[in-house]
Amino acid sequence: MDVPVRGRLDGEPWREHMDFHETAELVRHLATAAAVICLYLTGMRPQEVQSLRSGCCPDPQPAAGTPGRHLIRSHHFKNVTDSNGNHLSAGEIRAVPWVAITPVVNAIRVLERIVPEGELLFGSSHHYTQERVGSLKASTLNVRIKDFTTWINHEAATRNLTDQHIPDDPHGPVNTSRFRRTLAWHIARRPGGLVALAIQYGHMRTVLDARTSTGYGSRSRGGIHTVLDVETALAAADTAARLRDQLAAGEHISGPATQRALTAAAHAPRFEGRIIPPTFVTKARDYLARDGIVLFDNPDALLICAFKHDSALCEPDPGANAPRQYDCRPGCANTVRTDTHARLLRTRADELDHLADHLPPPVGRRLRTNAGRLRAAADSHDSAAQTAEALR
Ligand code: SF4
Repeated sequence: MDVPVRGRLDGEPWREHMDFHETAELVRHLATAAAVICLYLTGMRPQEVQSLRSGCCPDPQPAAGTPGRHLIRSHHFKNVTDSNGNHLSAGEIRAVPWVAITPVVNAIRVLERIVPEGELLFGSSHHYTQERVGSLKASTLNVRIKDFTTWINHEAATRNLTDQHIPDDPHGPVNTSRFRRTLAWHIARRPGGLVALAIQYGHMRTVLDARTSTGYGSRSRGGIHTVLDVETALAAADTAARLRDQLAAGEHISGPATQRALTAAAHAPRFEGRIIPPTFVTKARDYLARDGIVLFDNPDALLICAFKHDSALCEPDPGANAPRQYDCRPGCANTVRTDTHARLLRTRADELDHLADHLPPPVGRRLRTNAGRLRAAADSHDSAAQTAEALR
């Protein structure tokens, strides 16, 4: 086909030329990739993604010098009832729009080039299927995700990109219903944002919380917030249980929030192989509401945050029950560290020094300064740390 090849894999053009006979398959994979991005990075339920229409996410009108956010206005279905309490299967336009970060906007724009204006973005008549009405079914999307994974692995293998291989999931096939929980898991457990592009586009928790903090403050937290609260509580409980085990093994602890961290560790519940009933949501929120004794692991800053709202230097939103860990500031009164953290600080400092040896002097100097800071933090832990026994 007479079209330029712009895509690159590992720095190389991914095709010598585009073959007309391959386009149907590629468009199918492209739409599947767009579906995965929408499912993964909005927190929408599968049927909400399936009901998206072209034009659902217009470019925002900048107001008073602010760029504005992309918002998705579309249908939701869960708990939608008429005045008699009967479930409305057609759903309704959600009162609170979803916030779309840039990868989602890009995915929607791609789909808008595949389907006509105003059509369902996953309308079956435009996506190479026998189905002729409505949107692609969840079962069809699940098969396509499997095919897409196979295709990616084939491409990775033919180019010897073994690190790009998608391994089999021991928990079963990846399907549309798993992305929402995975997103919440990453937000709760990876403060720096391993979620795709989260760092570049603003941390997901802030983006999601924008819905409740801007204009919808009185609306109860529902939808993805519920999943996020549960995952955050589970992550915090795991952190407390892990700290308890480390202290029991004789590790030392230091930092201004040591006493609070010891209290949290002493009362840590343990969740082994969990089934989460609906009642757990209330428990999770109660757990997170214990200001000062909920522990948040911060593997990026290499510390544990015993989050107390009033002493937090990361300026959490009013009423927030979790810190803005991606903006963790040195010297905060909520910090604690263990021997493991001190060891990891020194390992990271060595890595920075090693990197600095291979970079231009101005960048190298900055990295060495950072390495020095990390070693100083580790030294100050060593000089102040005590065992849990000694602190009782
Ligand atoms: S600044 Fe303080 S409250 Fe915020 S993440 Fe860091 S330790 Fe926690």
